[in-house]
Amino acid sequence: MADVNFEVEQQLHHSGLESDQTGNLWERRALIDLSAIRNNVRQVADLVAPSKVMAVVKADGYGHGAYRVARAALEAGVRWIGCAHVTEALALREQSIDAPMLAWLHTCDTPFGSAIAADIDLGASSCLELGRIAAAARKVETPARVHLKLDTGLGRNGAMLDTLDELLAQAKDYQREGLLRVVGIFSHLAVADEPQRVETDEQLEAFDAAIAKVEAAGFGLEVRHIANTPAILSRPDAHHDMVRLGLGLYGLSPFEGDEPSSFGLRPAMTVQARVANIKKVNKDQGVSYGLHYRTTGETYLGLIPLGYADGLPRIATGAPVSIHGKTYPVRGRIAMDQCVVDLGPDIDPEEYLGATAVIFGENGPSVTEWANAAGTINYEVVTRISPRVPRFYLEGSWGESALEEDDTTGE
Ligand SMILES: *Cc1c(COP(=O)(O)O)cnc(C)c1O
Repeated sequence: MADVNFEVEQQLHHSGLESDQTGNLWERRALIDLSAIRNNVRQVADLVAPSKVMAVVKADGYGHGAYRVARAALEAGVRWIGCAHVTEALALREQSIDAPMLAWLHTCDTPFGSAIAADIDLGASSCLELGRIAAAARKVETPARVHLKLDTGLGRNGAMLDTLDELLAQAKDYQREGLLRVVGIFSHLAVADEPQRVETDEQLEAFDAAIAKVEAAGFGLEVRHIANTPAILSRPDAHHDMVRLGLGLYGLSPFEGDEPSSFGLRPAMTVQARVANIKKVNKDQGVSYGLHYRTTGETYLGLIPLGYADGLPRIATGAPVSIHGKTYPVRGRIAMDQCVVDLGPDIDPEEYLGATAVIFGENGPSVTEWANAAGTINYEVVTRISPRVPRFYLEGSWGESALEEDDTTGE
C-alpha cells in the first residue's frame, strides 16, 4: 500500500520535471481536493436540512475515488452512501465504510446474499427483483432491507406505477415471512436539470401519490427520496427525507450557465500534466493524425502527455489547456496518449518545457468547457478520467497543504 505524503510544490511554474521534497516525481495526475468535497457536503446539508444527505459515489466517486470521497463525505456529516452496483457497495464495506448504504442497479447475477450479509440496502425495481432479493435473504438467513424503486416518468429503472399494488402485496408476504423489510421508497427524476419543464412536477406528484399508497398499506418507511443534484439545487419541494447528492458533491453544476460557485460549491478535481515536449515548427506544419490542423506561421507546438486513454474525449479538439496562466486550444486530433497545443511564436521554450499544463480545475479551464468542446456533460468528463492518471488527495488550500497519494489501489 503506497502511503506517501509529500508537500505540494510551492508554485506550478517551474520548468523541468519537478520533484517534491521526498523525491516523488509526477508526470500526470488528478488532484482531488477533499476539503472541497467537505465544503460541498456542508453547503448541501444546510440547504436541505432537515432532510438527510446520501453521498452518491458510484463509478468510483465520479472518477474521484469512491473510498476517499465516501470517507470525506461522512466526516462532513453525510449519513448515507449510495452506489449503483452492489459490487461497488461491497468494495466500500471491505474498506470499512460502515455507514448505511444503498445500491439500486441489479442483474440476475447480482450477489444479493453478500449485500444482505454486509448490511447493504437494496433498491427493488420489480416483482422479479424483489423475489430474487427474498430468495437470497432466505439463503443467508438475514432479512433484506429494501427500498422500492418506482418509475414516476423516467422510463428507465424502477417499477411502473401500475405494478405497485402487486409489488406491495408481494412485499407484504415476504415481510410476513421475515425475509425482508421495506424501509424506503424512491424514484429518479428525468429533467430536473431543466427547471422550467413541467415533467418534474408530474413526477413529484406521482411520487407523493405512491408514498401515500405505500404508507396506507402499512409499511413503516424510514426514508423517501427522489432528489438528485439538480433537484437539490432547484426544487426544495423534492427534498423529502433524504436527497441523493452526486454531481454537486464533486463541486460541479448541473445547470447550463450556472457556475458551481453560485451554489457555494467548489470543484474537487484538477487534472494536470507536464508539458512533454516543445518544438519550433514552420508555417503549414500539419498536426496529429489526419493533419487536420496546420500552423499558420512559425510557431512552437507543446506536447501534452494525456490522450483518450487517459479519459480526454477524443472529439474535444479545440478544448482549452492552461499553461503559465494562459489558455491554449488543443490543435489537431487528440490521440491515445497525447495531444498538442499551439503556443505561438513568442514563448520561451525553456520556460514551457516541463511546465504544468492544467486540463481543467484549479488555475485552469472548467470541466464544463471540456464538456462543451466534447459535446457532452461535465458528469461524463470527470467520470471518464481513467485509472492511468494517478489520483492525489489534497487537504486544505493550494500551496500549503500535504498531498497524499491514492492508497486504495494496488496491494
Ligand atoms: C447517479 C444517481 C444520482 C446522483 O445524481 P446527480 O445528478 O449526480 O446528483 C441519484 N440517484 C440515482 C438513482 C442515480 O443513479
